[in-house]
Amino acid sequence: VSIGITMVPHDSEDVGTLMKFADLAMYRAKEMGRNNYQFFTPAMNIKAARRMLQQEELATALQEDRFVLHYQPKVDLNTQKVIGVEAFLRWHHPEKGVVPAQQFINLADETGLIIRLGEQAFRQACIQVQALERAGFESLKMAINFSVRQITDTGFLDLIRRVITETGVAADRIELELPAELLNEDPRMLRELLVALNDLGVCLILDDFGKGSCSLVALQQLPLDVIKIDHGFIRDIPYNVSATDVASAVIALAHKLHLTVVAEGVETVQQLAFLKSAGCAQSQGNLFSYPLDEDALIGFLIRQYEKPLIS
Ligand code: MG
Repeated sequence: VSIGITMVPHDSEDVGTLMKFADLAMYRAKEMGRNNYQFFTPAMNIKAARRMLQQEELATALQEDRFVLHYQPKVDLNTQKVIGVEAFLRWHHPEKGVVPAQQFINLADETGLIIRLGEQAFRQACIQVQALERAGFESLKMAINFSVRQITDTGFLDLIRRVITETGVAADRIELELPAELLNEDPRMLRELLVALNDLGVCLILDDFGKGSCSLVALQQLPLDVIKIDHGFIRDIPYNVSATDVASAVIALAHKLHLTVVAEGVETVQQLAFLKSAGCAQSQGNLFSYPLDEDALIGFLIRQYEKPLIS
């Protein structure tokens, strides 16, 4: 039980206000791990007001179409050519400029705005695949990130199917990135959903693998195609022995399970050399390129045929 407490007449004498304050205190108690009680403080009200403001700002931005996608190239380590991109959401804020997803995605997720925002982003990504095709890049895959909340939303499967049909994109060019913590959800529901997505022909990537706990049994039983090693392990290669060992073990495990391995967050040639020697097939990171806007991406894709990505 989580309990929020507000005091009469100290905090207020108005019933509606008191109820709101008690509610805020209860949410604070829940945030602190549940099973405790919290007294209302004015700071809670300020925090709630700020959150409300941000939430309104996000909703307005969504209406005004202020979200765009940037794309980080993903490279095949054998051919050193770009085989796909991962889409990252950016907010073109009227005052703050370009705001990266980390700064607003949690709020969008908590408030449920992620459902509409996610649909818009997914649609934009599908349209981009076709624009790339027209520019002569016909086999590039597009990876899009989804949160647990989006994926467990009852309309998720329908959303994916509908946007693919409406945009006319080839399903096999689309890669859905699923957070590893999704494997903690109800196994039956999850299996049914992933099988249905797999039937649509999209590729399923398990993202951030190695961060937090994740059932290996589920990993084996679900129709996944790719796992992405969490950048936390890549960062410490090759100087931190245990991170390097974990990365090697994950690559070996993935091979046993017939999964392709992508290493993300690759920033140095030493990391790249290690990953290649460990048999990792694909990677992405600032060593190759930062996430790029649509035009910069096309430029990057053209240049890869003029000179090697890593010389
Ligand atoms: Mg990702």
